Amino acid sequence: MHAAATASARSPYALRSALGALSIACLLAASAARANGTSEPERFDVVVLDAGHGGDDHGAEGAGGLREKDLVLDVARRLAGRLERRGLRVVHTRDADAYVPLGERTAIANRAAADLFLSIHANAASARQARGVETYFVALEASDEAARLLAERENAAFREEHTAAPDDPLASILGDLAAADAMRESDEFARFAHKELSALDRSVPSRGVKQAPFVVLMGVQMPAALVEIGFITNPAEEREMASDARRDRVADALARAVLGFAERYDARRGVRRPARESGNNAEGGG
Ligand SMILES: [Zn+2]
Repeated sequence: MHAAATASARSPYALRSALGALSIACLLAASAARANGTSEPERFDVVVLDAGHGGDDHGAEGAGGLREKDLVLDVARRLAGRLERRGLRVVHTRDADAYVPLGERTAIANRAAADLFLSIHANAASARQARGVETYFVALEASDEAARLLAERENAAFREEHTAAPDDPLASILGDLAAADAMRESDEFARFAHKELSALDRSVPSRGVKQAPFVVLMGVQMPAALVEIGFITNPAEEREMASDARRDRVADALARAVLGFAERYDARRGVRRPARESGNNAEGGG
């Protein structure tokens, strides 16, 4: 007590600057913990699934009556089951036919400190023959005019919300620090997803991996991609996507993409995926 008083009396400036350094260190540690969900080397374990639209926002609608909001919620649920069976934790931005603002979707993902954000949509075009899958990751500049128009359509809800950017000052600092890595990993995941989805219909020409300024992807502090799983305005694709079989195949393809990405994600961070010691996954691979 006496020694401490002497020390602080002797060097109040040293103490203050030590406290300052400590609080910065704490802040950085807290940031890392928030970014990773833990201070341990981060294992890939949390996925946010974002079913597009919902509630009064139906998204695209097919001539046969299929609505994007219903289709993508069902696919998200099928995918969630597959990922959970492989030991991942899934957080849904919506798990009901409800309207969730785009800003709230990104906030849910950031609060969950997820390792991947996957937004699921279905496409629309005035040309009924347009078909195939498209996969996007975020960029301020759209890769082409069609991508720009798509982002504009998917961002429509945001214009009505007038939601501000993330209000957390740490979010933007982390955003800068993590942005380059997250962008590279978003690109990688988008390619995995596109490869798996395209393989479902090898006869359909690939529409490619593209970039566009999707609001829902812009605020998230983790790798993120948006998939358009098919054209709801194409009568043949609409009929197909109305079927359980097709939805299961899409969910299988996306699960393969997520698990493939997870493996690479862990390998890059030097994390080995442990055999899950708790008995809740005893059936093993299948
Ligand atoms: Zn959509």
